[in-house]
Amino acid sequence: MNTSPHNVIILGSGCAGNTAAIYTARAGLKPLVVIGHEPGGQLSVTTEVENFPGFPEGIQGPDLVENMKKQAERFGAEYMWGTVAEADLSKRPFRINVDGAWIETRSLIIASGASARWLGLPNEQKLIGHGVSSCATCDGAFHRDGKIMVVGGGDSAMEEANFLTRFGAEITVVHRREEFRASKIMLDRARANPKIKWLPNTVVEDIHDVSKNTVTSVKLHDLKTGKIWEQDVSGFFVAIGHIPNTKPFVGQIDLDADGYIISHGGARTNIPGVFHAGDVQDRVYRQAITASGAGCMAAIEAERFLEAEGH
Ligand code: NAP
Repeated sequence: MNTSPHNVIILGSGCAGNTAAIYTARAGLKPLVVIGHEPGGQLSVTTEVENFPGFPEGIQGPDLVENMKKQAERFGAEYMWGTVAEADLSKRPFRINVDGAWIETRSLIIASGASARWLGLPNEQKLIGHGVSSCATCDGAFHRDGKIMVVGGGDSAMEEANFLTRFGAEITVVHRREEFRASKIMLDRARANPKIKWLPNTVVEDIHDVSKNTVTSVKLHDLKTGKIWEQDVSGFFVAIGHIPNTKPFVGQIDLDADGYIISHGGARTNIPGVFHAGDVQDRVYRQAITASGAGCMAAIEAERFLEAEGH
């Protein structure tokens, strides 16, 4: 592998990272993409994507990211397996530690995403993409007239539940406490929606049915009464927050209280030459298309930065 500094290293291989790779590769910068711990990002765990422009019949999430990768490779982007354990952004070239090996780069695009927080139930991971989801915008339309469950008590859960009423016959919000963390306005809106039912003080103990490769029911536990029962559902949405993948940058990049990168305008971070793209900075839109747009922005900024530096 090249031992002189790379022009640009891109961390993450979701929509943001792949789009940044297409643009920087096409600009002749030979980007190196570090694939990260979720190859292909969140689309790789989605089934059909119906809202990415350009695919009137829809496209499978894994195919969409794979196409993006191929498109970047066609222009010379290089992909390496690995995750970033550590980074030294105190001077240039920046140094990135990928699985124990230090690599240097003149610019860096952080597109490492935010991982959905999961409940950790025995069958949860096996049914992701088969009725279990962390994104109502992505997967809600698959549950027309179905019974849908949403887990969580924050704004995301309220937003997801409200959105899902467009599709489902009945939406049940399951929350582990009596009090909701969600803002009053979001909670009131959800409470006013007659399609939404509420199960506070309740936790989900498992999801069925792995043998049918689809969600059919969940096992619930009322923490106040001790009652345990099964409830039929076809869609199960986990909305208990996201964790931005910014650990290696703590103390170097400006992060907000939840660990999301704070933008310093456009795709810029507080460090010149280090750019952000996608969900690692965006807690609002979190869509494949907005992540791709952000990847494009970061690539253009990296190109301009390198040009101004004489590279
Ligand atoms: P959040 O506010 O951290 O809420 C997470 C919810 O999930 C909490 O109710 C929490 O329960 C529950 N939870 C966490 N771990 C759990 C577990 N293991 N089992 C069961 N329940 C669990 O996260 P969020 O709703 O994603 O919101 C994140 C931020 O984005 C917030 O600042 C929010 O205001 C903002 N946001 C804003 C909007 C909007 O304004 N349109 C939309 C979405 C998000 P406890 O309450 O018991 O801890």
